[in-house]
Amino acid sequence: MKFAITSKGDQTSNMLMQKMRTYLLDFQLEYDENQPDIVISVGGDGTLLYAFHRYRKRLDKTAFVGVHTGHLGFYADWVPEEIEKLVIAIAKTPYQVVEYPLLEVIIRYINGSRESRYLALNECTVKSVEGSLVMNLEIKGQLFETFRGDGLCISTPSGSTAYNKSLGGAILHPSLEVLQVAEMASINNRVFRTIGSPLVLPSHHTCMLKPINDVDFQITVDHLTLLHKDVKSIQFRVANEKIRFARFRAFPFWQRVRDSFVCD
Ligand code: NAP
Repeated sequence: MKFAITSKGDQTSNMLMQKMRTYLLDFQLEYDENQPDIVISVGGDGTLLYAFHRYRKRLDKTAFVGVHTGHLGFYADWVPEEIEKLVIAIAKTPYQVVEYPLLEVIIRYINGSRESRYLALNECTVKSVEGSLVMNLEIKGQLFETFRGDGLCISTPSGSTAYNKSLGGAILHPSLEVLQVAEMASINNRVFRTIGSPLVLPSHHTCMLKPINDVDFQITVDHLTLLHKDVKSIQFRVANEKIRFARFRAFPFWQRVRDSFVCD
């Protein structure tokens, strides 16, 4: 089996990375940064986001596992004290794979045939470059509302505990193949009106944002922020691709939620 390790880059994570690499090589596993069967991310959830984007072209051939060197993570659920156990599990056990849904984002541009396609593990956010974001929100081709406010966050179930949660969105179990739309400070008065509640859409429903005036937007996909000019529409739906996690033991999602946000 071929493996790769990504590190957050701090001293502790780098040291753990070296240790795991040596142990796994001792078990006759092959280190291959380009075509790994398993990617071990050492750091936090942010580190796993980087690893996901680095290997997004081979999601069907790669499984991820996360070791956290800070506080408990949602994607990184092994602690440094357990790495010997994890290495033995990787080297010796045929592991179970758990798949989580991803978000597909397609940005189309005015007077152009090109389009940009992204996959998000956590979410995509859309904000204006200046002033309020004003966009029509369509669901399944029908106008749902005209949004005015700071921005919109469209998240995956596993990203629901990240930015979405700060916006008052619901925490969704990653076995649900859905996307969630959450508002950032919408303007609601006698002139402007939005639904005000987060929306959860099933996998066969497409959500589309269309500009009203401004056509330049600041769009984030997980940790990446890009300025997109001359935007005609931004389309969101549950992606056909999934992220695959190598699972060596049970660590139920609701327990991770409780340990992270309620108490441990
Ligand atoms: P960052 O600003 O350095 O860290 C964002 C925080 O979100 C970190 O504590 C990270 O955990 C945590 N996180 C990431 N994914 C998570 C998940 N699925 N569930 C729970 N917590 C999660 O940025 P970054 O490390 O590059 O991560 C980018 C992410 O930051 C974005 O995808 C977005 O979700 C989040 N973000 C949140 C807000 C907000 O809540 N107001 C604003 C901007 C961005 P670790 O410490 O383990 O890495």
